[in-house]
Amino acid sequence: MVLYFKNLNLLELKNQKTINIMAEVLKANCTICNYETSFRYGGGKFDFQTNNPVPAYDKTTEELKSVNYFLEKDNPDYIFYSDEQLKGDNEGKYIFQNFNLNLNQVNNYCPKCKNYSLDFRSYIFC
Ligand SMILES: [Zn+2]
Repeated sequence: MVLYFKNLNLLELKNQKTINIMAEVLKANCTICNYETSFRYGGGKFDFQTNNPVPAYDKTTEELKSVNYFLEKDNPDYIFYSDEQLKGDNEGKYIFQNFNLNLNQVNNYCPKCKNYSLDFRSYIFC
């Protein structure tokens, strides 16, 4: 993964409601069991039309992983975190947007302890 920061005004980007072309790395952190992982969310500048990584719950391995939504959207093994069944109460907090695959910032389903206690936060743009 190549990271570049071309004088990006990160604050300005974060204040935008929709970030479609900018890939992000988000960090997930469970407030109950301390499960922690990071994942890519959204395609990059050059591949966003074919690669659209979205966090998904893998029913087989019971792990959270970043999966290309374009290829796997009909795969019954995955539930995407944009799906209402993995979302709890967002408490009016930030919503990450990528096409219409929105993620809540707080109270998402934790793959480890199975509570709605997983928070996402923006880590880096790439
Ligand atoms: Zn947990």
